[in-house]
Amino acid sequence: MTGSILDGTRVARAIRAEVADGVAELAARGIVPGLAVILVGEHPASSVYVASKGAAAREAGIAERTLRFPAGLSESEILATVDLLNHDDAVDAILVQLPLPKHVGTARILEAIDPRKDADGLHPVNAGRLLQGKPAPVPCTPAGILELLKREGVALRGTRAVVVGRSDIVGKPMALLLLQNDATVTIAHSKTRDLPGLCREADLLVAAIGRPGFVTGDFVKEGSVLVDVGINRVMSRADVERFFPGDAARMATFEKKGSTLVGDCDPATAYPRSSRYTPVPGGVGPLTIAMLLQNTLRLCEARRG
Ligand code: NDP
Repeated sequence: MTGSILDGTRVARAIRAEVADGVAELAARGIVPGLAVILVGEHPASSVYVASKGAAAREAGIAERTLRFPAGLSESEILATVDLLNHDDAVDAILVQLPLPKHVGTARILEAIDPRKDADGLHPVNAGRLLQGKPAPVPCTPAGILELLKREGVALRGTRAVVVGRSDIVGKPMALLLLQNDATVTIAHSKTRDLPGLCREADLLVAAIGRPGFVTGDFVKEGSVLVDVGINRVMSRADVERFFPGDAARMATFEKKGSTLVGDCDPATAYPRSSRYTPVPGGVGPLTIAMLLQNTLRLCEARRG
């Protein structure tokens, strides 16, 4: 069986158009949703993500402000910035781009964000609300995956789901969202025994690990749904040939850019065993940005609408 793709790009476009409509409705009443993004340091991937988020926000009519700081900015200076944004009525949503430099206590920064302005739902109050099934901003990546599965008609009730990865930003909230949608959920991680065997029991397998092509065909039950969250850059020709055998377009991208992206699943052996899968790029990534815009709109509506 060769799986068909779950088209994150198309679904993200639809969500972004809906957000733009919602923003226009607010604008007609003189309210412009505001998003502030804090970027500390020169992390190359973060700079790219922040630029994409800013462009998408502006396209939807959201007033976006990116605050860029040098890597050496102290924790107290970041806290002071968050405090200013918390008290700025034009700012509805605050996003701190992760990872922060090592000298900064990420948890302290995230906890300083006003929970009513928490764009990525990482404040403990919002994480707790999600745990209890109460309305809250939900971390953008898992929220986007749920939206994709629903809009693409993937049934969740009674489904056996395995989420590999237990981060606060992807794995844990993903598992909670699937549970709320009546899936039977197992969370796996680096200490899980017989990971391939466990994954093979899954009707729905979510891989959020951060290791290129880690989930190979022997992890995947034939005909299951595969959500590949990973974004990994591969730089070697041998890896490109291994992950994308016979894929001339991929090789051309690699030749041109010197690298290409691969998810946490092996495209050569894992995707073909699935009934449907999210490609990398073009699967989960575009949804993360779309949900940031949706979270911003909803936070604005809740506070000022
Ligand atoms: P983290 O590094 O925070 O978490 C990785 C998780 O994977 C951990 O729970 C870890 O287990 C688990 N893990 C690591 N190695 C293994 C292993 N050998 N076997 C089983 N489990 C393992 O990563 P994130 O959750 O932040 O991100 C995961 C991936 O998703 C990354 O590739 C990231 O780039 C991508 N990502 C993509 C986004 C998108 O928009 N598409 C957005 C956010 C992330 P343990 O807890 O035991 O260490």
